[in-house]
Parts: sequence; structure tokens; C-alpha cells
Amino acid sequence: MELRKDPITRSWVVIGHTEEKPLPVDPCPLCSGGDTRKPLLELPAGAPWRVRVLAHHSPLYRIEGEVGRAPEGIYDRMNSVGAHEIIVETADHSRPLSRLSDEEIELVLTSYAMRVIDLKRDLRFKYVTIFKNQGEGSAAEWNHSYAQVTATTFVPRRILYELRASQTYFQQKERCVFCDIVRQEELQKKRVVDSQGDYVAYCPYASRVPFETWIMGRKHNYQFEQPRPGANRRHLAGLLGRVLRRLEQVSPAYHMVLHTSPNTAVNRGEMREFWKTIADDYHWHIEVMPILPAGNKSYALKEVYFNHMWPEQAAEYLRSLKASL
Ligand SMILES: [Zn+2]
Ligand SMILES: [Zn+2]
Ligand SMILES: [Zn+2]
Repeated sequence: MELRKDPITRSWVVIGHTEEKPLPVDPCPLCSGGDTRKPLLELPAGAPWRVRVLAHHSPLYRIEGEVGRAPEGIYDRMNSVGAHEIIVETADHSRPLSRLSDEEIELVLTSYAMRVIDLKRDLRFKYVTIFKNQGEGSAAEWNHSYAQVTATTFVPRRILYELRASQTYFQQKERCVFCDIVRQEELQKKRVVDSQGDYVAYCPYASRVPFETWIMGRKHNYQFEQPRPGANRRHLAGLLGRVLRRLEQVSPAYHMVLHTSPNTAVNRGEMREFWKTIADDYHWHIEVMPILPAGNKSYALKEVYFNHMWPEQAAEYLRSLKASL
């Protein structure tokens, strides 16, 4: 298994990953007693766990070893060093994230932040991704609610796009593009789905799929894992729960990803250029991409999204749906 870089798109590809021995689904390995290995984290501390973090059983990246950056002619390769973890979001096998209380979702978000902080201490890692697949067609391995964490020796391509765009925007306007988006969406209200405290959920202007929804803070912050003074993560948890409960009425399956600042403690390589203004130009957010059964042309081959639904209509419909627990 190794990482290879496409010299044209500059994206890294994990090559040669094979499933070792897929874990049985029954009994569930994410339930209490299903996995006897020592967890990386359990919350709340000193009480029966409600959220726990385990090393992935069949990791895409290995925690030990050298990064081994090496050329191969004009190409670049490196070892697939990194971390790959599972966040078990509840001890209750039958409850999805959307069915947890605000307090419980807050604990899940706290575990996300704690893993990002911990993994960023390892200066081999340039980026920590937290993502979640749920339901049919999402590549979820178990029905038990869980998220995944990867720490990588490179910054994923989509984050690079965002960093480039937000830095360029900032150089031109001296404003954060994400703050500008939230401001405009709240003025126009056409695509806003819901809000709670300082957090807003909306369908992006150029949504890639029907009902795509982003959640972000109204107040500027580039690092999810370091809340602004006075920030209330319970409000974010409440809003996330409400958004997921709405989305699950149109599609129980979705991908969710947290986009936060890369590891700015890594002071080498091409990323350094971004650190100059990243605290002002980047802004963390959560992206949720529902997986609708049919009707969407494949992105994979054409690299262009075809979304048959107007985001304004998607937001209006989502607003009309029941959001309470
Ligand atoms: Zn389970
Ligand atoms: Zn901002
Ligand atoms: Zn993003």
C-alpha cells in the first residue's frame, strides 16, 4: 500500500489497499464488549462510555513508520503513514446521530474536536479529516452510528481548493468568503434551512446534489477544534440534530464531512504560503451530502455535478419538514 500523487491534478491516491479481514457485522463490533482493544478515547471521563474512539480495524493509513517521500522519475510517492480511527457516536446500537439528544450530539462534537487536537500534535500530519457515512450506498460498514477520522501527510484536494479560493478572495477583498456567504444567505433567506444561536444551516448556492446542506458559525473561526470565546457548542449540536432529522426524511443515507484548518504547526512544504492569512481567510464548516436513490448523473466520470433540484426549493422544502426529536 502506498500513496501516489497525480502530477496533473495534484491529488494523492491510496494505491493497493486491501481489506484485511472484514469484521463481522453480527455481533456488532461497535457495541459494548464487541471490541476488546483499548479505546483511544472515551467520553464522558470516569463514567460508562457514551462516545468512544477506536483504531480502525482495516486502516487506510498506518500510524507507525516514516513518511518516506520519494521521487520515481517525475512522480511523487510516499508511504501511507497516517491515522485512521472510528468514533462510535453512541453506546446505543439502534440510534442514529439524528436521534441523539442535543447534549449527546455535543459530546460527539467534543470527541471530534479532541481527536483533531490530538492528531495535530503529530507534526507528520498535515490534515485531520472527520467524516461520516450513513445508510445504503454510503459505504457505511455497520449500522451502529459512527464517524471516521483520518490524519494524513498531505492536505486533501478539496481542502486545497478551499484554501486557495479563500486566500485569493481575502487578498482581493480583505474579507472571509465564508463570512460573506453566511451574511448574504441570512439577508436573502432563500436558501437558509435553519439556525440556532450563532450557527446557520443553508443549501449552498451551487449545491452539488439535491438537499446538500452546510452548517457554519456566523462568527468567524478557522478552527473547529478551538471554539471562539463564548461559543456554545450545544447550539451547534442542536442545529446539526435538527438538520439531520429533516434530511433523513428526504434521504436516510448521507455523507457528512467536517472541514477545518489544516495543521498549521507544520511549517514546511507548499502549505506554508497559506498560513499567512489562514486565521482570517478560512472558516470551518460541516458539509452534508444526502445520497438520493436515483436521478443523479454520475460525478465520477464527468467531474461535473448535475443537480436537478434548485437549492432554493430544497431549502424551502427542508424548512417545512419536522425537525424536533
Ligand atoms: Zn452496535
Ligand atoms: Zn469567516
Ligand atoms: Zn468545505
